[in-house]
Amino acid sequence: MKEYTLDKRWRNLCWLMLALAMAGLMAASAGSAMGAEGRGWLLGGTLVLIGAIAALIVCGRKLRCPACGRIVDREAVQAFGKTQVSCPQCGRKLTLK
Ligand SMILES: [Zn+2]
Repeated sequence: MKEYTLDKRWRNLCWLMLALAMAGLMAASAGSAMGAEGRGWLLGGTLVLIGAIAALIVCGRKLRCPACGRIVDREAVQAFGKTQVSCPQCGRKLTLK
């Protein structure tokens, strides 16, 4: 049987972007709580958040099932500590490498 693989690097990059988006969100909300002094934080945090989400979408599109082409970004991102996910469309086992 042919082995289907997903590139682990894209999954790791998705994790990184999720963390970055979270950090941006926290900076923005901290900034908005600080009032006028926090405007830089609010702006910077919002920019980081938007950038991270855009990068997350780009990375997510790289995580496709090699058999049927379905995007399996959510499955791959949720696979903490696992090396295999199964494609929700065709059911094939995909190995994270
Ligand atoms: Zn598939």
